[in-house]
Amino acid sequence: MFDRLKGKTVMVTGASSGIGASCARLFAEVGSNLILTARRTDRLAALAAEIRSKYPQVQVHTAELDVRNRADVDRVVSELPAEFSAIDVLVNNAGLALGTDPVVSVTDESIDTVLDTNVKGLLYVTRAVVRGMRARGSGHVIMMGSIAGLTAYPTGSIYCASKYAVHAIAQSLRAETLDVPIKVTEINPGMVETEFSIIRNYGDKEKADNVYRGIEPMTGDDVAEAVVFAASRHQRCVVSDVVLLATGQY
Ligand code: NDP
Repeated sequence: MFDRLKGKTVMVTGASSGIGASCARLFAEVGSNLILTARRTDRLAALAAEIRSKYPQVQVHTAELDVRNRADVDRVVSELPAEFSAIDVLVNNAGLALGTDPVVSVTDESIDTVLDTNVKGLLYVTRAVVRGMRARGSGHVIMMGSIAGLTAYPTGSIYCASKYAVHAIAQSLRAETLDVPIKVTEINPGMVETEFSIIRNYGDKEKADNVYRGIEPMTGDDVAEAVVFAASRHQRCVVSDVVLLATGQY
């Protein structure tokens, strides 16, 4: 059932770790060609080398990209090598949370970094890629939302706001693309053990691990399976929203 993805071109933002890297590996396994972007180019190079050696038929293009830089987003998308220029699937995955403060003490750094990355960056990438999809008359945009975009919680104001915004952008894009067969999918995971919690807690591993409170978190691979499932449906069928929770999480 994943044959439909063979030879397709899939762009993954934030592919240098966690869920994005898992998505890259799984799309490679089913034969998709990959555009992998992130800021940490050493990680991207290592991942690309791993994929090329395991799946020699898969083509991989890597590009350094900070999604907050709108000029770089436009440049990376417009200067793709010809064989990668028709993007079939965009996985809008780059994102982060920074800090665990209540509204009265959220930092300027957290407000700017999280909203610039999760909302503005996601919009820049979506805008640049959907222009090409529209011109070609097809495509699939997969947004990495979160359960934080469905229910807000204490100390989550900025991150939750950013993921509520991802839902809003997805809804708008759906309504704007009724005239072309462009699909939009929202993937909303709960707890996934990646570098996410460590970054959110400014490198404090103990604090990061405490988040799971005895619940076994999901892995990036669990989320990648949902992404690849959504991407591989027949053209007539859209997986609109997926919510994935760690067992025991509510
Ligand atoms: P990771 O920290 O492992 O991965 C985050 C990825 O985003 C990295 O590849 C990082 O790459 C990239 N990234 C961060 N900032 C930027 C930027 N400014 N420009 C480009 N890339 C950037 O965490 P996850 O894999 O867990 O997170 C992936 C997505 O999943 C995020 O959108 C997150 O909000 C979402 N999510 C995560 C959950 C979890 O519990 N882990 C739950 C629900 C959703 P680099 O630093 O190299 O640029």
